[in-house]
Amino acid sequence: MDIVIEQYLYEKKKILSSNLKIVDNATYNDRFSICKLCNFYEKYEDNPEIFRCTKCGCAGFNIMIQNYQCPLKPSKWKK
Ligand code: SF4
Repeated sequence: MDIVIEQYLYEKKKILSSNLKIVDNATYNDRFSICKLCNFYEKYEDNPEIFRCTKCGCAGFNIMIQNYQCPLKPSKWKK
């Protein structure tokens, strides 16, 4: 398996098994669809689920976390 995908899945698993509050699927999909249209969205070419936000530098994990917000002011996400 591609090392980037492997690392992504490992980090995702760590977040999902942590105490962090995770968004529901509807919120995740909302956020992700907004990110995909954003100028700061940088897709990983081998897997469209994996991306980097070039504004905050995160590897696309922050959209899963309830208390995190898009770094733009105002935030592009609804919640
Ligand atoms: S988190 Fe905000 S700035 Fe980053 S890609 Fe998504 S919408 Fe754009």
